[in-house]
Amino acid sequence: MPNHSCDLFVIGAGSGGVRAARMAAQRGARVVVAEAAALGGTCVNVGCIPKKLYSYAAHFSDDFRDAAGFGWQAGQPRFDWAVLKANRSAEIARLNGIYQNLLVSAGAQIVTGWAQLQGPHTVQVQTAKGQEVFTARHILVATGGRPSVPAFPGSEHVVTSDSMFDLEPFPKRLLVVGGGYIACEFASIFNGLGSKVTQLYRGEQVLRGFDDDVRNFIAHEVRKHGVDLRTCMDVKKIEKTAVGLNVTLTDGSCLVADTVLYATGRIPNVDGLGLEAAGVAQSRHGAIVVDQGYQTSVPSVHALGDVTARLQLTPVALGEAMVLVDRLFGDAQRKMGYDFVPTAVFTHPNIGTVGYGEREARKVFGEVTIYRAEFRALKHTLSGSSERTLMKLVVDAATDRVVGLHMVGADAGEVVQGFAVAMKAGATKAVFDSTIGIHPTAAEEFVTMREAVVA
Ligand code: FAD
Ligand code: NDP
Repeated sequence: MPNHSCDLFVIGAGSGGVRAARMAAQRGARVVVAEAAALGGTCVNVGCIPKKLYSYAAHFSDDFRDAAGFGWQAGQPRFDWAVLKANRSAEIARLNGIYQNLLVSAGAQIVTGWAQLQGPHTVQVQTAKGQEVFTARHILVATGGRPSVPAFPGSEHVVTSDSMFDLEPFPKRLLVVGGGYIACEFASIFNGLGSKVTQLYRGEQVLRGFDDDVRNFIAHEVRKHGVDLRTCMDVKKIEKTAVGLNVTLTDGSCLVADTVLYATGRIPNVDGLGLEAAGVAQSRHGAIVVDQGYQTSVPSVHALGDVTARLQLTPVALGEAMVLVDRLFGDAQRKMGYDFVPTAVFTHPNIGTVGYGEREARKVFGEVTIYRAEFRALKHTLSGSSERTLMKLVVDAATDRVVGLHMVGADAGEVVQGFAVAMKAGATKAVFDSTIGIHPTAAEEFVTMREAVVA
């Protein structure tokens, strides 16, 4: 066997790369990981973590209002954007340090710089000191993705989610374009923080791919919260003027915004990686093609996470990394299961979902039984808030298996995570029915729904 400088060279220290590097090093492999930016990747620096912190910040505007019904009298609350940004920045720096310690204490070497494949076993890194060349038995490409903005007149004036955490000044008027996870989450967050938010979506309803009841319900709820959500609407052009960004919409109307956020999808981070020269096969938008074991068309090169453009979620990248490390440096030949992957959208209120939406389930299973509950959560009987909660079960009529579970309501992600275990284990509606609820909670509704929805 050739004498390579390491067993595993990881390009990209994001969710998938760090997990793979750490696990491989803990198993005794000689690991080098190259990162061009901050350790932790998208999730830690400009994704899940800062987004969730800002979502907590935004929820306080509701909390202050809700408190009055419980007898609390507070003065007029004032939001300080600079404090939130500074506290977030300090927390993210702390997490960057934790990631560094995790890698170093596991025995992995970190190289700071841009990495490029030079061949099936060779990587060149452009560091501050110059070029360094490494040879590796295995190479893992875990370079993630980046925002994609369509070309149109004035597109140079828009920002992407990467810039939203440090905007200066705070956008009093925010236009959000898109109807996916990022657009919906940022619309809710900045609405909660005090921006006047308009959200445009080109299709008929936001969150394509989610259950239709969930989509309709969340659209209604976010409008109630103050987001001016306009569907079947897009941007024609944007002009910069003295009073802000003048945006012309597809219906000919205009609006003025301080900031325009484009959240129109993410594409794989593959530019300048040397994939073509190394012979690594790619598909749409450059996504790296892998088999079930994350091997690319070049046997010594592997890829996982967002750069493969499948389910773009942190826990998925982490799970894929564990499977890969088991295959390369352990004795397990596991496959990752992509069914019943739970997910949450941190809109206000949150969405939590696992399994099939009703329409999709009808296509896959034929006959399905639907259980649905919609109610005002106990807290809001005193808070006076008009926010409502939706819970829905989709049951395969032939087997009684619960194949879809959906919630829109407070902490829906927390609730659905627990039920996802039961769903993965194949729980039937009879098992749900025999489960005792926890009272008084919203979650107990999932085990007490008895009346099927009449079609
Ligand atoms: P990344 O985490 O993107 O890491 C890739 C790393 O590779 C980066 O650090 C990059 O700098 C580095 N890199 C790229 N090219 C090179 C190179 N040539 N040389 C050296 N380094 C390189 N997912 C959830 O599950 N829950 C959420 O709540 C959630 N919220 C999100 C919010 C936002 C705004 C965004 C944008 C994403 C969110 N996601 C969320 C998705 C999640 O962040 C990604 O799925 C996850 O980070 C993918 O991990 P990864 O390892 O594939 O790539
Ligand atoms: P999504 O793919 O979720 O949504 C993209 C949105 O942009 C869709 O509504 C799409 O419309 C619309 N769109 C695409 N192209 C255009 C265009 N040219 N003009 C106008 N609209 C357009 O991508 P996001 O950027 O929101 O997020 C990327 C991924 O990151 C997500 O899919 C998710 O996997 C991950 N993520 C996860 C989060 C979580 O777990 N909570 C939070 C944030 C991100 P259409 O539906 O018509 O195609």
